[in-house]
Amino acid sequence: MNTCHKKTTPSLSITRTRRRKKTVSAQMVNGNIHIKAPMHIAETELHKIIENLTKKLTKKTDLSLKDITKKLNKKYFNNKLIINSIEYSAKQKKRFGSCQTLTARILISERLKKVPKWVLEYVIFHEMAHLIEPNHGQNFKKITAKFPLEERAKGFLLAMSYELYDE
Ligand SMILES: [Zn+2]
Repeated sequence: MNTCHKKTTPSLSITRTRRRKKTVSAQMVNGNIHIKAPMHIAETELHKIIENLTKKLTKKTDLSLKDITKKLNKKYFNNKLIINSIEYSAKQKKRFGSCQTLTARILISERLKKVPKWVLEYVIFHEMAHLIEPNHGQNFKKITAKFPLEERAKGFLLAMSYELYDE
């Protein structure tokens, strides 16, 4: 594995790995872009791909976690939930979200900055549901079944988790 670092804003690191066969992946971690590329991809081709991926990753998003929380609270919880804070966390690597039920604080993995809005909404919705029901039992399932795209969102997240093993 050889890695080269290029100083740009945001900073970019490229890792070439034998484990990747064809595809180039880009991930934003703490404001830095990590590229994983196959060992034998041509330099010019790689740079073209990186340019596109970087554009996509740094595109400004108007998704405010608070706004989504407000919307979901109204739509699914009759505005009854009180959420003290919701923010992105760089530390959540394996989990997509977490909810401290005692303090009503929700953390959302930074990895979800690049997923479709309905997937992000599902994760937020799931964590909000924990404020009513801390466990994943029958009660919890009754609440989360209200989210129309639940199964599709779960499938999407599952696929993302498998991607982790390609690193
Ligand atoms: Zn949960």
